[in-house]
Amino acid sequence: MARDNPNDLAGESPPRSIVAVYPGSFDPLTLGHVDIIDRASRLFSDVVVALSETTRTKRFSFSTEERLAMIERVIDPYPNVKVVSFGGLLTHFARSIRATVLIRGLRAISDFEYEFQMASMNHTLAPDVETVFMMTATKYSYLSSSIVKEIASLGGNIAHLVPDAIHDQIVGRLGPKS
Ligand code: ADP
Repeated sequence: MARDNPNDLAGESPPRSIVAVYPGSFDPLTLGHVDIIDRASRLFSDVVVALSETTRTKRFSFSTEERLAMIERVIDPYPNVKVVSFGGLLTHFARSIRATVLIRGLRAISDFEYEFQMASMNHTLAPDVETVFMMTATKYSYLSSSIVKEIASLGGNIAHLVPDAIHDQIVGRLGPKS
């Protein structure tokens, strides 16, 4: 229901259970992503990590099945977090699972412009779904899936950048072949 006056909210209690979607390509999942998942799992009753099957420009290094399996292993300790893949519009997907929150992580100013554009567009498409930004933990502010791939392919150590449970799989796929 649209509200003209924010004060109309007075007296309304927030919904008891909030399903939040955390979308991304996670190619591969990094500790920066895990930090956001961990924090979101404390804020929302259910967190659905939504693995995007479509891509803007990227070619994925790991298939959808591989990324799903990797994320499943890492989120196993979180009872209120699950992962699914989706194609098509994120807002359609969010509505299909009755999610009312979209979570995005913000690292640097460089993330801002694209994220602002997406959040505004998603708001137009689905005003009932709210985008919530979470600031990166400082220690992961430089971390991205592409940096991980680059370091791994050059034989560098990525142990402090990715979850233990998927480290060997990433190095096995991307590390230099001897
Ligand atoms: P996308 O291709 O949709 O940007 P990514 O898998 O690269 O998907 O990232 C998914 C989300 O996680 C994005 O909101 C991104 O900003 C956020 N993210 C990525 N790396 C980090 C990090 N190190 N700290 C916090 N958020 C991050």
